[in-house]
Amino acid sequence: MGRILPVLEQTKVLEGKDYREVLRREMDAGKIPLSLGKNCPVKCEFCYEIDHSYRETLDPPKTSKEDWKYILEYIQKKPTDPMQFWCLGGNEYMEWTDLFLHPNAMEWVEDFLKYTDKNIQFFTVGFVHVPKIHRLVDQFPGRINFELSVITTGSYRQKLMPHAPSIKHLMKVLDGPAVSSANFYSFDENTMSQDAETISRINQKCVLWMGCLTPVRGIKDATVSLMRQGRKSLPEEAERIYDKGYPNLKSIHTEAYVTAFLNRKRIVSQFDALEVEKKDSVVMAGSVYKILNMYRKNRARFLYVPNAMLGGDSDCTVLLTFGDIAKRLTTEKYVYIPKCVMESGRGHNMDITGVSLEEFSKKSNVKVRILHKIDTRFANTRLYRNGSLENYVEDYVRNPLTRSYEALSLSA
Ligand code: SF4
Repeated sequence: MGRILPVLEQTKVLEGKDYREVLRREMDAGKIPLSLGKNCPVKCEFCYEIDHSYRETLDPPKTSKEDWKYILEYIQKKPTDPMQFWCLGGNEYMEWTDLFLHPNAMEWVEDFLKYTDKNIQFFTVGFVHVPKIHRLVDQFPGRINFELSVITTGSYRQKLMPHAPSIKHLMKVLDGPAVSSANFYSFDENTMSQDAETISRINQKCVLWMGCLTPVRGIKDATVSLMRQGRKSLPEEAERIYDKGYPNLKSIHTEAYVTAFLNRKRIVSQFDALEVEKKDSVVMAGSVYKILNMYRKNRARFLYVPNAMLGGDSDCTVLLTFGDIAKRLTTEKYVYIPKCVMESGRGHNMDITGVSLEEFSKKSNVKVRILHKIDTRFANTRLYRNGSLENYVEDYVRNPLTRSYEALSLSA
């Protein structure tokens, strides 16, 4: 028996505010909010920002010299945490873009390094000035984390990212000290493995960050099929790379079902520590649901919630929304919800769309008990631990147990 689906209202925080409010909010969350003043012109087919209508945004105009002065002075006043890397680009209240397309980006990255004592990280498909980026990394050792989004250098590149930099340019970016990690993905046989060989030949120091891309809402069907095809070839592609033994650090990080399986013992022990009872309904995304059904079947009512807001292929508790949860409620009077669902950058006890816990409880007429121990910090630590290629191959691909794990049904 279903209940009437409540209409959950987002808390609008930008209404009536000017763009400086966006800048401040992003900076308070550790971002350096440069803006191109327009959508990202690279127009990658796989971009996660193709449809970002689920959250409230307000795009600032192209960052001017005055804006930059304001940003730099605001950040200078923030305390320095030697472990923190300030991210170039806002992505919560504004749209994510490749900021190296801003004509002043290189100069302002240098300003940031010169006039603050903080670290910086940036992601780009490669629009950096080659001699300058290598020089900056030499000049400011340990303060730059440069994540190069290679994606693929093979035959799918033209289709997926027709406006990205050329392979020739990309190889020059890779050839030197600048790149900390290069990310690239499986799309088919000999895609990711070929890229690993090419990249490792040029740069043995950067981390090879691999996996496959997850379709989200707004991505075209043909691209979705290609991403799913890549997921099928991931195990063989990973084994090819593993068997070659390249000297680079190698990680497979992007797949929730893999992360959940590799961390199964920790997920189970964390569940045991929650001390919930058999009749209790506990909200979770697909892979954690499978793990708990394998190891703790019937110890609680595991309420599998698909990431409907982001698109069905996502499988992530952190990115669940209250709207997604509301769709799955039937007769529950109360539910347990992990804290990480309501720790988004939108504000206190809000999900990624800006719907608050209070709004959810009121409109859905269900009481919420928060699982405080399942917070974003726990989820992120899990993501990074056990994420090496070696772990993936030895404990996932070559583990007979994964066959029953993958075959487990998600139907509730
Ligand atoms: S460069 Fe990045 S932000 Fe721009 S379209 Fe491609 S994936 Fe999206």
